[in-house]
Amino acid sequence: MVTTAAVAFVQGPVAFNAALKASATLGATPEAFDSLAKVFQAVHKEAARFAVVAIESSTAGTSHAVYDLVLEHGLRIVSECYELTPEATTRFVALAKLQDVGTSSGMLTMNPSVAAKRSLKTSFVISFPSSIQTHTNNLHQTLSVLASRNVDVLKIEGRLRSADDDSNQDILCLDVAGSETSPHVAAALLELRELTQSIRVLGSYMAVCEKEDTSVKAKPLELEVKDKRSMTEKYPLSPMVTDAPLGRNLMIVAMAKKMEAEGEQVHSLCIGEPDFLPSERAVEAGVRALREGKVKYSQLRGDPSLRQAITKYLNAVKGISYDPDTEIQVTAGAQQALYHALYSLIRPGDKVILPSPYWAAYEAIIKQVQAGVVRLPGKAAEDYLINPKTLEETLIANPTTKVLMLCNPSNPAGTLLSPERLEEIAAVLRKPQFQHVVVLADEIYEQIIYQDEGLATRVHKCFATLPGMRERTLIINGFSKAFAMAGLRIGFIAGPSYFIEPCMVLQGHFTSTANTPGQLMAAEALHEELEMFEQGKSRIAPVLASLNDRRQLITRRLRAIPNVTFAYPTAAFYLFMDLSAYFEGKRALVTRRGGAQVNKESAEVLNDVAEFCEFVLREYHVAISPGVDFGEDFGIRISYAAKIESVAHGMDALEHALQSLTFEQV
Ligand code: PLP
Repeated sequence: MVTTAAVAFVQGPVAFNAALKASATLGATPEAFDSLAKVFQAVHKEAARFAVVAIESSTAGTSHAVYDLVLEHGLRIVSECYELTPEATTRFVALAKLQDVGTSSGMLTMNPSVAAKRSLKTSFVISFPSSIQTHTNNLHQTLSVLASRNVDVLKIEGRLRSADDDSNQDILCLDVAGSETSPHVAAALLELRELTQSIRVLGSYMAVCEKEDTSVKAKPLELEVKDKRSMTEKYPLSPMVTDAPLGRNLMIVAMAKKMEAEGEQVHSLCIGEPDFLPSERAVEAGVRALREGKVKYSQLRGDPSLRQAITKYLNAVKGISYDPDTEIQVTAGAQQALYHALYSLIRPGDKVILPSPYWAAYEAIIKQVQAGVVRLPGKAAEDYLINPKTLEETLIANPTTKVLMLCNPSNPAGTLLSPERLEEIAAVLRKPQFQHVVVLADEIYEQIIYQDEGLATRVHKCFATLPGMRERTLIINGFSKAFAMAGLRIGFIAGPSYFIEPCMVLQGHFTSTANTPGQLMAAEALHEELEMFEQGKSRIAPVLASLNDRRQLITRRLRAIPNVTFAYPTAAFYLFMDLSAYFEGKRALVTRRGGAQVNKESAEVLNDVAEFCEFVLREYHVAISPGVDFGEDFGIRISYAAKIESVAHGMDALEHALQSLTFEQV
């Protein structure tokens, strides 16, 4: 590492002037040496950072000795200047060590305003194994390559040199216009390298016009290091983020937001957020908390009033008891709860079984905690419900499975696992060879269950209540869905203290605590919920009735569209449909637009369901979510937590969009 920012030069008045100028440019101080060899040694040994040497003059021509020393020490030219005396004009170059220049091209540039007034030049040396006879040929070849690439030659000088093994070398020293990274110079260098590998680029730097008024003292110039590498090459990011990019659905969301910002009306059926508001009581509790200054950190485990309310709720409504002091962790949303649980459970090599279709964030979170993802594909014909037999086969095939993700009710399928089906799943897990598997029971939609006349009443059963499951289940829940407080970011984990303790530690490290007014609102929402429950009333019933109207509409409309299959929605506010009859092994051509036929040759092509969703957004202003994010390439998720008019408009759009397409095999 060079510590001295000195500019070494060979003692003498003309060289001193050049060194002075270079020093101003390079932000260094001149230092005189009594020979050329010592100047090069100084840079080589890092006693000086730069050398300024005379490389050619109007009377003596090129200094081959300097070229040889530059090559020998592997230095780069970083700038040049001319010194005019009555006797001669001398060209000086400033040199630096390659690693000191710090870039692959070794190019230092001045600040852009200065650079704009000057042009770049590149110096290089090319050598051929040669004899006198081939010298002309080498010269011609070199010049013709440069001419064919439109590279202006500013200087060329050749000589023959005897190599150590007595063979001759034909050496050409060239200066050309342009940077070595400019396309035409780079292409010419590449072509010259096909003639001979012996090319050394000495540097690309600002060319100084010989006639410039050198009496003007050089002003200090800002130095910039030009590094052509991309940000990814320079600063590679963690695989935690690169392996789990944001999905296509978020692109749809972003596109929809942009359209809205541009004043267009968009019918959004792609957001997992209810369209109702928190109860008055909950809002009042939040306002009170703010007025009373309850905006400090809460306890790390969560506000005690909320933890108590959670345990009361789980006990009264779900029939399971937890200790509020050791078995509940309040988090900044259920999503954070999932991180805490998985970070606590996953060790290197562990796998997580992920039934599909799945909520897109699951896959990303599993990858971020460095666990292996094992997909457990569901079938549309089976309402995408977990098949216990397939689950057992998957567990056998993946003995390092640590966690089963159990999202019930399911986002995105909108279906509910019955208590009987849950018991079948638990029966598999009870087998001796699967005792080590922990269940992450994401029950955030547990309150949003619909009934259909003439069919058995649907109930949500908490997985942890099944025999033997409490010990190995972590319940994930939160206030974003049934309580419509998504923006307040309050979630929780309930489970044995053995698992909750590490989650508490992680909570401390991640965000300290969840937001305090939000926790107080959530506690009040649960008090209200429990009071109504005790009176035999359902707080959420009116919301469910409204969501149910949309559910009825959407299922009626979809049944009328040919070849669309879907899981009959019984819970949450999603419907997951399957378009494989349209898109599997096929691509779509948009052959109808605005009622008119478009010929096939000029028709827009939609290669997959994700492109179809983008098309529906662009043409019909309806945002729906491509299934690829949920593990099903031919699926689409529709969220009907939107105005019923938007749902109706969405169904019209889907029907027309599919009618406007002609499918062809790929
Ligand atoms: N779990 C599921 C299945 C979800 O669908 C969502 C949100 O869409 C969450 C968890 C995250 O909820 P929160 O907003 O509480 O982080």
